[in-house]
Amino acid sequence: MSPRILINGAKGRMGQAVAAAAKEMNLTVSGAVDAGDDLGAALAGCDVVVDFSSHAATAALLESAVARGKPVVLGTTGHGADEKKRLLLLAGRVPCVWAGNFSVGVNLLFALTRRASAVLGSDYDAEVVEMHHRFKKDAPSGTAARLLEIILEERKLGAEALRHGREGITGERTPTEVGIHALRGGDVVGDHTVMFAALGERLELTHKASDRGIFARGALRAACWVVGQPPGVYDMQDVLGLK
Ligand code: NAD
Repeated sequence: MSPRILINGAKGRMGQAVAAAAKEMNLTVSGAVDAGDDLGAALAGCDVVVDFSSHAATAALLESAVARGKPVVLGTTGHGADEKKRLLLLAGRVPCVWAGNFSVGVNLLFALTRRASAVLGSDYDAEVVEMHHRFKKDAPSGTAARLLEIILEERKLGAEALRHGREGITGERTPTEVGIHALRGGDVVGDHTVMFAALGERLELTHKASDRGIFARGALRAACWVVGQPPGVYDMQDVLGLK
């Protein structure tokens, strides 16, 4: 039987895309809440909550879900590193799929980026460029943050290696820095390019999303998967069996 799904952040762009995708996939939506609604009551009547709201709302959402033992699919981005560490402890107390990007193509981009970072050493300058619609409130995107994490992990670098944009007399690029550039404009759903540039050649891995339905369908696939899993934090690689 398909799980009863609660949508949190229901009035937003993603909340509406999740509702549309649920209809298309014949899944049951038991409730749809947004800021100011009674989240606790809505949680009581669902089997899993799918959240695309605001990073400021994540702690309260997780606390309510933990109190009621409800699985969570968390799509919201924009958490700071320390904030995320605290939230992960909370999220691990219920079955939770937490992904900065629910698209299948992007999850493959993560795997390709890991492989390219390993094969192309520090001689290849790594830079990440992302572009999103003019309404996006956080930068860099959760997907770009994950791509950067993968590059830093493979190159054994810390967060101090990141260069968020460049301005003024920056000096020559060092081999240990990783650049990140966030473009904003129009209605772009989400573009990500990971670039590895050496003297004489450049490899670019690019993903372009043209319809937020891909994230909604992925999040609903995660919702069906996570119900019945043991408590813990999972990602889309787990859901898709890419690990
Ligand atoms: P949006 O601004 O269109 O919608 C956000 C909605 O959340 C709004 O309706 C807002 O009223 C609501 N909200 C704010 N505070 C709330 C609260 N306390 N409780 C319940 N609802 C609350 O934004 P969006 O484009 O739909 O994106 C939402 C989030 O999802 C962002 O963080 C975005 O980066 C992220 N996102 C993630 C993925 C992914 O695949 N993981 C894909 C797209 C967007």
